[in-house]
Amino acid sequence: MNSISIIGTGYVGLVTGTCLSEFGIRVIGMDVDASKIRALQRGEIPIYEPGLPALVAKNLESGRLRFTSDIAEAVAGSNMIFIAVGTPPGEDGSVDMTHVLAAAESIASHMTDTKVIVNKSTVPVGTGRRVKELVRGVLERRGLSGLAFDVVSNPEFLREGSAVRDFMHPDRVVIGSENEKAANLMRDIYNVLYLIDTPFIFTTLETAELIKYASNAFLATKITFINEIANLCDAAGADVHAVAKAMGLDGRIGKYFLHPGPGYGGSCLPKDTHGLVSIGRDHGVKMTVVGAVIEANDAQTLRMVDKIERGLGDLRGRTVAVLGLAFKPETDDMRFAPAVPIIEGLIAKGSRVRAFDPVAMPNASRGALAPHAATGAFRTCADEYEAVTGADAVVLVTEWNQFRHLDLQRLRELMSGRHFFDLRNVYEPKDMAERGFVYAGVGR
Ligand code: NAD
Repeated sequence: MNSISIIGTGYVGLVTGTCLSEFGIRVIGMDVDASKIRALQRGEIPIYEPGLPALVAKNLESGRLRFTSDIAEAVAGSNMIFIAVGTPPGEDGSVDMTHVLAAAESIASHMTDTKVIVNKSTVPVGTGRRVKELVRGVLERRGLSGLAFDVVSNPEFLREGSAVRDFMHPDRVVIGSENEKAANLMRDIYNVLYLIDTPFIFTTLETAELIKYASNAFLATKITFINEIANLCDAAGADVHAVAKAMGLDGRIGKYFLHPGPGYGGSCLPKDTHGLVSIGRDHGVKMTVVGAVIEANDAQTLRMVDKIERGLGDLRGRTVAVLGLAFKPETDDMRFAPAVPIIEGLIAKGSRVRAFDPVAMPNASRGALAPHAATGAFRTCADEYEAVTGADAVVLVTEWNQFRHLDLQRLRELMSGRHFFDLRNVYEPKDMAERGFVYAGVGR
């Protein structure tokens, strides 16, 4: 019977391990962060992810899921070992492989019997082979050159905020392997998904690795494209929602990811677009489209600051309320959240920012905004109504459900100004004007 260890218990590792244990498999979650592991052992979830706490509790109780910071225990206790550690962007946009290679090395240093090493982290094409060579080298040094092992690529496509659902009902499962035996073991692991007719793509290591980057870069391109059309709509007096709806009805285009906003953010699209440009560079292929997407997306975020400045006339001495900090609703992840450059831009132009987010404020206060909190230019508030009190303008950055039904009358009374910048097009321009707001959306 298969048993699994997952190296790295972050957003992907924890969701993967928990969902696989829910499928009935024995799973060990391992992380170098001992405090995270201690919290997980107590049943405390270090991230905000809807549906996850109940699933972790259930599977901890059943004994199918356990956590350790001991790599030897994780390696000894399973025949399949998933690597789900971070692959952050390096200074030059290249993919920082330190954690993946360290995880592979620590697996190899503790292996005493046959293993399948499954890479779930998003990694440049060629990593599977690199991991294989690394493991082989360590085993040779340990006098275990005869020990058989396989390396498989199994990129993950879940979205934070709906990660459990995405893992349980994926659009597809991609498995890159070099032999049928390893591919069959992977099919066993995902048997529950196989039985509900989830499409499986069995392919090579290299192709699987590239599928992930190509998918994320395409999604980033779609968002960036509609943002550019939205900017044109703003200038030309057209309605981007009608444009996007009509475009999306064309089956060749599809309706998803055509919602304009302040530019994509998060822990995946920014780093994976940079990563793909860097991978292209390494292979002598210029990724012109993706390069332009990165440039346009950065400009889109800064454009939001210009929009607010144009609306208010002058940002000096203004108080701006920012609603939503996380890069999207239903997550506490602040990595590459557009709220950060927008707030930094407002502060650089002389404004003070009062912000509220239902779950991301602790992470926001630890990151790039911390120095501004120290000077008093940025402060977090107890709720959305405290944030808007005395504000010249409201900027809706993240479309949490609780911001979709604001008490607009109360808002108007608490604010000292009337400007409402709706960077997610949650509200109707006509309604907002009737309620006395000076409203600006994106592209309509
Ligand atoms: P994360 O930063 O949330 O978690 C990574 C975890 O790995 C951390 O807890 C860290 O302590 C641990 N770690 C680092 N080095 C380790 C080592 N040598 N041994 C054991 N543990 C180690 O990262 P994440 O968001 O879960 O992303 C993981 C990978 O999955 C990345 O490659 C990412 O691109 C990819 N991915 C992420 C998402 C997402 O939505 N977050 C979706 C799909 C794919």
